Amino acid sequence: MNFQQLVLASHNAGKLKELQAMLGQSVQLRSIGEFSQVEPEETGLSFVENAILKARNAARISGLPALADDSGLAVDFLGGAPGIYSARYADGKGDAANNAKLLDALKDVPQQERGAQFVCVLALVRHADDPLPILCEGLWHGSILFEASGEHGFGYDPLFWVPERKCSSADLAPADKNQLSHRARAMALLRQRLGLA
Ligand code: IMP
Repeated sequence: MNFQQLVLASHNAGKLKELQAMLGQSVQLRSIGEFSQVEPEETGLSFVENAILKARNAARISGLPALADDSGLAVDFLGGAPGIYSARYADGKGDAANNAKLLDALKDVPQQERGAQFVCVLALVRHADDPLPILCEGLWHGSILFEASGEHGFGYDPLFWVPERKCSSADLAPADKNQLSHRARAMALLRQRLGLA
């Protein structure tokens, strides 16, 4: 498959930069912000549904093939919560409130039951009605700490224990996190699917 340009279904310049670096320079990512400021309602119940919905919307608005990502944290003990609601787990009060709510939800849960994964689903559609979206899922397995650690990253990084490095994901240097993360894993699969790897 040969795409010279993809519209990324995100208004976040930092995300575009990060995904462009992971994808490589042979495919140019353009922001959906060039075409519209309106964001679609994320009505799906899963990462996959929301990624497809965002990709279709971006393709419809731009008339170009589109890529969307949907990501979050799924905690085993909480049945996968906060999941697709990760960004607004504490009703939109931000990262510190989200982390406090998660620590509280797990306060009596022992170490061995604190498994979790960061999830990233990438969906690529060739056009808005594409019946066969390319779907790539990246999972990063770890567990939830009892207290925050580390200064890097964002979101739930200070609470996410990375077993292969024996530290939190906020303790990792950004370049290290970008080698290991759920987004890096999903993007590596996408590069394979596009024949770029
Ligand atoms: P988005 O898909 O980038 O909007 O991310 C959704 C939410 O999931 C973020 O607001 C964070 O709460 C959480 N999340 C996703 N990826 C990460 C990560 O790499 N580190 C920490 N939190 C993350």
